[in-house]
Amino acid sequence: MSELRITAVEPFILHVPVTGNEIADSTHRISHWGVVGCRIDTAEGISGYGFTGTHAHLSSDQLITACISRCYTPLLLGQSAHDHARLWQTLARSPALQWVGRAGITTLAHAAVDVALWDIVAKAAQQPLWQRLGGAVRESVRAYNTDIGWLSLSDDQLLRGAKQAVDQGFTGIKIKVGSAVERDVARVRAVRQAIGDRVTLAVDGNGKWDLPSCLRFARATADYDPLWFEEPLWYDDVQAHAALAASGLVPVALGEQLYTTDAFAEFMRQQAIHWVQPDVTRMAGITEVLRVCDMAGGWRLPVAPHAGDMSQVHLHLSWAHPACQVLEYIPWIAHCFTDPAHVKDGHFVKPMLPGCGTTPTEQAWGQYRQALS
Ligand code: MG
Repeated sequence: MSELRITAVEPFILHVPVTGNEIADSTHRISHWGVVGCRIDTAEGISGYGFTGTHAHLSSDQLITACISRCYTPLLLGQSAHDHARLWQTLARSPALQWVGRAGITTLAHAAVDVALWDIVAKAAQQPLWQRLGGAVRESVRAYNTDIGWLSLSDDQLLRGAKQAVDQGFTGIKIKVGSAVERDVARVRAVRQAIGDRVTLAVDGNGKWDLPSCLRFARATADYDPLWFEEPLWYDDVQAHAALAASGLVPVALGEQLYTTDAFAEFMRQQAIHWVQPDVTRMAGITEVLRVCDMAGGWRLPVAPHAGDMSQVHLHLSWAHPACQVLEYIPWIAHCFTDPAHVKDGHFVKPMLPGCGTTPTEQAWGQYRQALS
């Protein structure tokens, strides 16, 4: 077996335009998605790519790449990518970093490194990641479309997009809420009437509302059968989520803003979560998200990883992990990769090339690359 000694770690920042050049949810308005990460080279000539996702603010993106190059690279050079589990621990418990950040920039940078290491070992084994993780456990991965549901869309645009998605074969959609309760209730009602009863309809508040607003909204939309209410409340507020979950009005989904296994564990212990939504680009990579998926399986909770095509990795995870049930479709950056995410008839096509699917194309490299300092 080759050693896969790490010879170089090269950070990168790509800023990729979103659909329609601008979108908004209840808390953010963005024009680009940041793909911030690193290429890790090995002595055998196999390179791995990993990245985190950001709202493309160059100043904070450069903090992530600085963390990779200044803090993590010295811990990686000369090590073997085969030892990725040990290296995960080395980075997570690094004396230089544990004190200053067990979440945030250090975790986002760690995500990029961990994914790149998995990419290397999967490529070296000539296997797509899902195979490396033990093989496919399902026949298909159902996609749900979020890119038709932004708050910045007019009511007409929202309904047109929802119907179009269903015509294209999607059996699930998600729309953003979190503006005014009455406006959002009316949009949910109109979308449900437009798409019929057979398509799943989830809603996503992006942490904007307080508990009374969430309860009012959930009561008013219960008849429209929402699959889940995602990030209804402030991301870290376990008690308020537990109260909403206990109301029985709507299933609660969250996780895209949680950095650690411990954070998920607390939501599960408090029965504050029904759908588990970890993100390999937010947590410390595949290594930690697998722990969350296993834990969710133990609690008999379904996993719906955050955006499949915005990490590329969640496609593989969804094929390989029994807890994963459905996967989000937001195709902003899929075209940037040599093995892009594809949806056909409402289902993600199984990726077949070796690795994690995270290798950028030459074109993306040339078109979207930003300065590191
Ligand atoms: Mg969300």
